Amino acid sequence: MHQLDFTLSAGPVMATPRTLAAMGEPIVYHYDPEFLERFRRVEKKAAQVFQTKHDVFLMQGEAILALESTARSMVTDGMHVLNLAQGVFGKGMGYWLTEFGAVLHEIEVPYNEAVSPDSVSRYLKEHPEIQMITMVHSETPSGTITDCKAIGAIARKHGALTLVDAVSSIGGLEFKTDAWNMDVVVTGAQKCLGGPAGIGMVAVSNRAWAHILANPKAPRDSYLSIIDWKLKWRGEGRFPFTPSVSDIYGVESVLDQVLEEGLANSFRRHAQSAEVTRVGAVAMGLKLWPASAEISANCLTTIALPDSLNDVEMRTHIRAQYGVMLSSGQGAGNLLRIAHMGPSASGMYPIVGLAAVGQGLIDKGIPGIDLGAGIEAAMAVLARNGDKS
Ligand SMILES: *Cc1c(COP(=O)(O)O)cnc(C)c1O
Repeated sequence: MHQLDFTLSAGPVMATPRTLAAMGEPIVYHYDPEFLERFRRVEKKAAQVFQTKHDVFLMQGEAILALESTARSMVTDGMHVLNLAQGVFGKGMGYWLTEFGAVLHEIEVPYNEAVSPDSVSRYLKEHPEIQMITMVHSETPSGTITDCKAIGAIARKHGALTLVDAVSSIGGLEFKTDAWNMDVVVTGAQKCLGGPAGIGMVAVSNRAWAHILANPKAPRDSYLSIIDWKLKWRGEGRFPFTPSVSDIYGVESVLDQVLEEGLANSFRRHAQSAEVTRVGAVAMGLKLWPASAEISANCLTTIALPDSLNDVEMRTHIRAQYGVMLSSGQGAGNLLRIAHMGPSASGMYPIVGLAAVGQGLIDKGIPGIDLGAGIEAAMAVLARNGDKS
């Protein structure tokens, strides 16, 4: 097998040398005064990246922990929740909501499409009982985006709370927690921030807190409890359990890097890498998975595979033959994913991903792939954008 040269997967992604150096700093006691100060500083930096004035918490576990914790905390018995399912993560949230005691309402679309704000509006008119809307900002397995801004405004007008999985978007795609009326937002560091996979970050609005604290079913005195973080850590300066010290260093470093770059510049960089990849893919004769450009998430490009090929086998072939690690469809469909997340949303990385996918298909005898035309078209975008990408 070829050694691993490029990690262009959809998270965890490659980390910068600065991030790796931060994670190699000495491990200290979690009640060391300097660590306490650092932990609070990281929460504040995270709030800047979320674009919120509200509470941000750092949960010690992968983002799924934070998603499960907040979903359990928000769902009251018999609560009517509208779940937007346009992909694997959205669908999974629906199973959870039912399990946690909600009455599930769902708008589901094929996994190469996006739920339209109009359909949400219509649904709420017909169902005034809806108290919360759950959605996924960037559906990573299929590479599509949800219009959280429009849906947030609709939710506020209706008086519904919102719970948003923004794990693969924060830091790389525009997301305004407060301005878009997002009540509970979850992200991780291992996607567009290019950090470690062990921390879930959660923003919680005051409205959501009032709801959570009044919910007898919200986890308390539990590893899953966000209430513990609020009351014990925020309230008394006492950690509910030992935080993962090195991961906190890594998270602080990636937050520093994106804030120094500027959020708008980071969003532009991710958009440009996506543009390079999409233009190249189309010129090469590949088929993009999302139904339209407008609903494509800029943190990755999803490429539909012919029925004769298997996505996992293709991913494995490309890794073994060319040392490029891509992601497969993760249940969303027969597709390959070239991610543009964190450091991989830059310069020549999209070209590497395109070349690997194109040649991989040629290796398997797929006709109609013009590798040269694809690379040329992609390079033309890169040349035009110059050092901005
Ligand atoms: C990565 C990701 C998560 C975290 O889930 P894992 O399966 O543990 O990677 C949750 N939601 C979205 C949209 C993600 O991209």
